[in-house]
Amino acid sequence: MAEPKKRMSKSRTASRRRQNQKVKLSGICLCSQCKSPKTPHNVCKVCGTYNGRQVLKPALGKVKTKTK
Ligand SMILES: [Zn+2]
Repeated sequence: MAEPKKRMSKSRTASRRRQNQKVKLSGICLCSQCKSPKTPHNVCKVCGTYNGRQVLKPALGKVKTKTK
């Protein structure tokens, strides 16, 4: 069976491992109203909307919200 000629250094092993350890941004999507990052299936905390309708009062007063 073939053997490696040289032992691989710790830093080389670690750098190869680090290539596969990217920070995943799963669990974050953009709000359809104000385009701010929010967790999916939750009320947006910035504009207080869920699925296009107003649920909570907006936390920040400067956000434009669509009202009929
Ligand atoms: Zn929002």
